[in-house]
Amino acid sequence: LSFDAFVRHWAAERPDHIVLEQGDEAINFSDFEERSRKIIAMLASHGVGKGDRIAWLGKNSRHYFELFYSAARVGVVMVPIGWRLAAPEIAYILGDTAAKLLFLGEGFEEMAEKACGQMDSPPEVLTTPAGLSEIDASPAAEFAAAGPDDAVLQLYTSGTTGNPKGAVLTNRNLFSLRVPSKEEGQPWSFFDEGEAILVCMPCAHIGGTGLGIMAMGAGIRAIVQEEFTPDGVLDAFEQGITRLFIVPAALQMVVQHPRAKTTDMSAVKYVMYGAAPIPLDLLREAVRTIPEAGFMQCYGMTETTGTIAALPPEDHSLEGNQRMKSAGKAVPGAELKVIGEDGEELPRGEVGELICKSPSNMAGYWNLPDATQSSLKDGWMHTGDAAYMDEDGYVFIQDRIKDMIISGGENVYPAQVESAIYGHPAIAEVAVIGVPDETWGEAVKACIVAKPGEEVDEASIIEWTRERLAGFKVPKSIDVIDVMPRNASGKILRKDLRAPYWEGRERQVN
Ligand code: ATP
Ligand code: MG
Repeated sequence: LSFDAFVRHWAAERPDHIVLEQGDEAINFSDFEERSRKIIAMLASHGVGKGDRIAWLGKNSRHYFELFYSAARVGVVMVPIGWRLAAPEIAYILGDTAAKLLFLGEGFEEMAEKACGQMDSPPEVLTTPAGLSEIDASPAAEFAAAGPDDAVLQLYTSGTTGNPKGAVLTNRNLFSLRVPSKEEGQPWSFFDEGEAILVCMPCAHIGGTGLGIMAMGAGIRAIVQEEFTPDGVLDAFEQGITRLFIVPAALQMVVQHPRAKTTDMSAVKYVMYGAAPIPLDLLREAVRTIPEAGFMQCYGMTETTGTIAALPPEDHSLEGNQRMKSAGKAVPGAELKVIGEDGEELPRGEVGELICKSPSNMAGYWNLPDATQSSLKDGWMHTGDAAYMDEDGYVFIQDRIKDMIISGGENVYPAQVESAIYGHPAIAEVAVIGVPDETWGEAVKACIVAKPGEEVDEASIIEWTRERLAGFKVPKSIDVIDVMPRNASGKILRKDLRAPYWEGRERQVN
């Protein structure tokens, strides 16, 4: 279970098979094996070895994956940095990780200069083209391979609820739940040699980098796109990709694109989606739009190296299926439990905090011993998500505990209210938050982006919701906004929507 083992294995088994492809550039497993030895030599010539950190700042690139796969063979830890971050945020991550080298994707020189200018001891910066010519000049090296428990990747959480935290992930974390085995016959671990997987989500997140890891583990082709665009995904469908991972906000743009009706999507076997709650009506629309694909919901977090629960295609039937509201069952190797406030396991059907024991659980947060201790207890990762589990082990994620609204003593999970409101014909996007209220403690508020050309009238939305949900969940007020605040992972930043209402007050969270 290590990058080195997989690289050697596939170079021997499938030497001519393409491993990475971007635009009209591609490299096969055998050439990559050779090239990665040169990358390792280049890293060594900069004094970088096992346990050291290197960073990548740039859009998605096959060069990022080449560096990551190669560094991981020797236990050099890759830190991909979100390219939408501002200079001080980049400087913070570079400083926090003490990265020795910073590799740049095209067009990031100025940003790197700005970020490094704010640091006491900035890393050595290599623009990727320069880094690449150095690689070509390097001799292929012999090296000591990293073992299963060596750290190879440090991924920062999305920063949806607070500051991003660096999750340290080892070889074992990366591969333990993903080793493809046809014998097992599980949809999430079943790959054919001819598969091609699309990497269109940002590599600074597990939904982007994780697909590259999956491709290397399964010995299949990863097709890398610089960044997500709905057109890019539709093009990739036409080019015959068989699998992708996509967040709900991006999936919405793809299925509602005018081209979606005429695009040949017949090659797509699996549409994996997740990372945020998905409104049921959107999921149904997606299933109808890409009818031949198997849909698979993925639930997980950076700290669990991505997916720990998955809802398989057979639970996506359009006929009145309650299961479609579930995030699925624990994937093989992972164990899930729902616990109460005292840590006791709750009976099925009761809502509590979801916790997970899995070989994919991170080694810990980088430089945050307290946060590590409070979220990883006896090997169980505490997700911070409220959920219940049914008799068959299906989990139903309610929402983040921190976002739960307590209104008049009743618990309201914003995701459920959002899902109900989303079906209203005038609405493009919706977020639900709690705002201070003298009578109720907190009152439910919906923030809405209207569809182009549509007027949103408060009374009609309140009426719409009242027909679908219990009275205490119905918004007391509506804000119409122009743009939904989202982070680079496509997640709604409810904390930003809440902020103006809570200025000068402390919001109670459980
Ligand atoms: P931060 O921890 O910095 O606040 P984040 O939690 O958004 O950011 P990630 O690790 O990218 O960072 O996201 C994990 C979270 O995403 C989960 O804890 C959960 O709240 C949410 N999530 C992931 N998958 C799903 C899903 N299928 N349905 C609902 N929510 C999901
Ligand atoms: Mg989190």
